[in-house]
Amino acid sequence: MSLIVQKFGGSSVADAEKIKHVARRVIECANDGNQVCVVVSAMGDTTDELIDLANSVTDTPRGREMDILLSAGERISMSLLALAINDMGGKAKSFTGFQAGISTDSKHGEARIFDIKPERIKEVLEQGEVAIIAGFQGFDATVKDVTTLGRGGSDTTAVAMAAALNADLCEIYTDVDGVYTADPRVVPRAHRVFEIDIDSMLELASSGAKILHTRAVEFARRHQVDLQVRSTFSQDPGTYVYSKKRDDMEEPIVSGVATDDTQSKITVIGVPDIPGKAGEIFSVVSEAGANIDMIVQNVSTTEDHLSDISFTLPHSDRAKVVQALKDQQSELGFAQVTYDDEIGKLSVVGAGMKTHPGVSAKLFRALARANVNIEMISTSEIRISVVTRASQLKEATRIVHSAFELDAEQTAVVYAGTGR
Ligand code: ADP
Ligand code: ASP
Ligand code: MG
Repeated sequence: MSLIVQKFGGSSVADAEKIKHVARRVIECANDGNQVCVVVSAMGDTTDELIDLANSVTDTPRGREMDILLSAGERISMSLLALAINDMGGKAKSFTGFQAGISTDSKHGEARIFDIKPERIKEVLEQGEVAIIAGFQGFDATVKDVTTLGRGGSDTTAVAMAAALNADLCEIYTDVDGVYTADPRVVPRAHRVFEIDIDSMLELASSGAKILHTRAVEFARRHQVDLQVRSTFSQDPGTYVYSKKRDDMEEPIVSGVATDDTQSKITVIGVPDIPGKAGEIFSVVSEAGANIDMIVQNVSTTEDHLSDISFTLPHSDRAKVVQALKDQQSELGFAQVTYDDEIGKLSVVGAGMKTHPGVSAKLFRALARANVNIEMISTSEIRISVVTRASQLKEATRIVHSAFELDAEQTAVVYAGTGR
């Protein structure tokens, strides 16, 4: 008997018919003699709709109340799925994150799991019932308030549960047939990869490929959980994401192209070019609570000894960081701070890059042919990222995908979802 964790994303449980379809898949897996623990996301675009609703009653939503509100989405889908399974003759019980023993830190909206005590889940599984858990939520261990794990966080619930239950397999069911070489909604000729190493998957996820939540991939790597990413709407085996390096595994030069249009760029102009200034500026940025991504500093001219520093950060953090820098302008001694919300980031990822020169030249040449200007560049051992105009991002992605000869013969199938 195997213990299988199955996670179903929002588009897989978007309406009553889809919930019944998922119920049948879960029952099939249980009837094959497996213990099944299911993690569900909120139905369709429920989370976005709840956020819109909150924004329509306040401009300054408090994290604690937002988390209680948003956690309601997953409670609806978990209970409906349990009702459907029981109606079809199966046996299932649903649990909130709190009931499933998922404790987190207290960072509302972006909480990190630090412990899972899945006693009730284990009991239910041992009794031969399906345990259904509301994804994306936990509770603050100190004050017992509801927390959420960040957008897309149900993947992390599933991987963390698989680790806590020592599951044999963690299946992530979604609206496409696995991990593709690019988002099939942007690049219709993207091709599905059959297997991918965890480091490339981590770079793709953290570069904006929302097929998996970045924290889920980090968790899988740390706790050695293998994942199978596949569609709810087909029998295709999808993509295996291996948490450990296997010797027989091929390392493609480029595994995929990812894009991110959720970032902004801030430029601090006229920074005195003396030791310690970057430290002072980025202390202010980090005290404002922002996570920065790329940084570029230009060389000062010999006459004025002033330089400019640009960096990217999530769009949602831009206003508070600009304000924090303005508040400290006289102490920091810079001339001006500007921002740009219309940027897009394109990343090319591949474990084989370590040993193959020429990837950046090929990327830059492809962008030049398409008349796309590169505004910033950053690299890791297995990734090259560039910042472009947001308006050019989708076209640039298709061009780069073709330039690296990743185009498939056929168009990828997107089975459901709005891509919101
Ligand atoms: P779920 O609700 O199942 O969690 P998401 O919308 O979070 O689904 O993630 C699935 C979507 O991720 C796909 O529909 C696709 O548009 C997008 N996506 C982005 N990059 C990739 C990629 N490299 N491979 C597959 N899908 C991707
Ligand atoms: N419902 C949450 C979201 O839309 C979590 C998830 O779907 O994974 O972000
Ligand atoms: Mg998701």
